Amino acid sequence: MAFVPSAPAICESGSASQGSASSNPAPLVSRDPYSDPLFLHAADSSSVFLVSEKLHGEANYGVWSRAVRKALLAKNKLGFILGTIPQPVDDEEDSGSWLRCNAMVCTWYTHSSLSCFLSTKVRALSPWTQILQYLPHHLQAPTQHNEQISVMVKESARLAGEFCSRKWPIFAFMDSHHPDIPEPPYPPHCIIGTDESRLVPALQWLESEPCATLRPKDCINGFVGSIEKDGSNVFVDWVKEKQIKIILVVGICTDICVFDFVASTLSARNHGLLPPLEEVVVYSSGCATFDLPHDVARGIKGALAHPQELMHHVGLHMARGRGAKVVSEVSFDA
Ligand SMILES: [Zn+2]
Repeated sequence: MAFVPSAPAICESGSASQGSASSNPAPLVSRDPYSDPLFLHAADSSSVFLVSEKLHGEANYGVWSRAVRKALLAKNKLGFILGTIPQPVDDEEDSGSWLRCNAMVCTWYTHSSLSCFLSTKVRALSPWTQILQYLPHHLQAPTQHNEQISVMVKESARLAGEFCSRKWPIFAFMDSHHPDIPEPPYPPHCIIGTDESRLVPALQWLESEPCATLRPKDCINGFVGSIEKDGSNVFVDWVKEKQIKIILVVGICTDICVFDFVASTLSARNHGLLPPLEEVVVYSSGCATFDLPHDVARGIKGALAHPQELMHHVGLHMARGRGAKVVSEVSFDA
């Protein structure tokens, strides 16, 4: 028993001790109908918003997830997210109630979450147990030390210093995504206004460097992300204005943003759209990618494994295959 679509809930067990059954034939009313997680009150409609503020990304994830948990706990539905209310088999009495409750929790969660994320990821995920674990994992930059990423940051900062001391031009892309413009299959990241959309601390000094051109991009591909509303391309204009013949590419992610940019730039060069650019050089230690090992990906439905070392080298290999020069060392004349 349990699912009651409208109040009040009738307790069939009769375990409550209100008088004797013989002298009081009225059905016993539970004091807390929500003690049954499969109970839905008339007010628990599909239009319920669990929290007043939607999830925007990493910046409000902590506050948002605590509020969602509290709201679901108050309705005794947190178990649908955590997986502690197992789905009954089809012919069990509670099966229909469970499905209705699960659908309702689904709807509440959708209303309260980031719409672009849900449209690309969450709907593909099942069971619900994975969602709260999945969200923070993918919305936050890695908190543990990652050697490949640390080396990439250190080398990028070193090269930036060398370039600036020689007054060589630098063009820095910063992922800066609008929360309402999804870029599937990637989950929201580097949302405008959050710390993630800024340069990493080791490179923030570039913000006031005259030799550096900073370009926030709302696109995985920096070349496409350089296109302005009037059709002009900030990166193409920069190459032409500074008369750049060779570019040295560093950054994250080797096989995604770096590769997309390199492939597009080489294609534009090959078609005479980027004069006087001659060569695109990718510095392997100046690039890095993220890590989603096979054993972790296996536990996340719909997730594609992304082993860091392998995918980093795949990115470099593909860049080389497209005509970039991949180097393992960059040195400067004294
Ligand atoms: Zn991005």
